[in-house]
Amino acid sequence: MPPQPTHCAICSSPFIPGQRYLIDWWGNVFCEKHLQEYPTCSACRRLVCQRLTGGGVTYPDGRLMCQRCRATAVDTKQQAKPVVEAIAPQLYQWGLRFNGLILKIAVEDGLTIAQHHGQIDPNSRGQLLGYIGRTTERRGNQERRIVNGITVLSGLPQEFFEGTVVHELGHAWLYLAKVDNLPRWQEEGFCNLLAYIYHKERPTPEARWEVKRLEDDPDPIYGEGFRRVRALFKKHGFGKALNYTFYNRCFPPE
Ligand SMILES: [Zn+2]
Ligand SMILES: [Zn+2]
Ligand SMILES: [Zn+2]
Repeated sequence: MPPQPTHCAICSSPFIPGQRYLIDWWGNVFCEKHLQEYPTCSACRRLVCQRLTGGGVTYPDGRLMCQRCRATAVDTKQQAKPVVEAIAPQLYQWGLRFNGLILKIAVEDGLTIAQHHGQIDPNSRGQLLGYIGRTTERRGNQERRIVNGITVLSGLPQEFFEGTVVHELGHAWLYLAKVDNLPRWQEEGFCNLLAYIYHKERPTPEARWEVKRLEDDPDPIYGEGFRRVRALFKKHGFGKALNYTFYNRCFPPE
């Protein structure tokens, strides 16, 4: 058993026996009252204060980002490029092929992304995390599909950014494979399953946090849908389920 905490991680005051205290996912123990005093980081959910996060910043689109998350934040295309180029080979390893994908990455702030709302696929409730550019070229009755880039919300800490890229690559794969008629919970659930597998293979606390976030997400589409798709792909085996999806343009039965 971990030792009984003696002091608040935020205000340093000693805990008196019987006092209620809270523990966040990162193991910080603090007085219950601080929950009302400090806002939470939009990425890691830590209370944003000097002691836990070194403070934080509010982006023009309203998101609060703590300084710990800021330390790895991906703000520019130049920062994003090598990260994305390292991700793609992993997906190939899982059996995902992207015939027609132009791996061009853009990062946009929340305000710009919101302006594009009409054409985009929102990847999370409340906050649009990313979208892919799709084009279909027709010559006679030949149809050729192209994904001409991925756009991700700027300022996400790197692990969150990577998961978002993987999620969007999931949409790209489904589109290029012409898997068009999945119910929404299946499409978003599949994209989140890919992000989940990605994070799960990585040993950092940030990756474990992203895994936890997906596992605990109460959203009927992104959370419940993900867990159903995970069970389905587990039942059939990931590679088999993926093959089935590719050839039948739908998921195997639950
Ligand atoms: Zn305290
Ligand atoms: Zn944070
Ligand atoms: Zn999505």
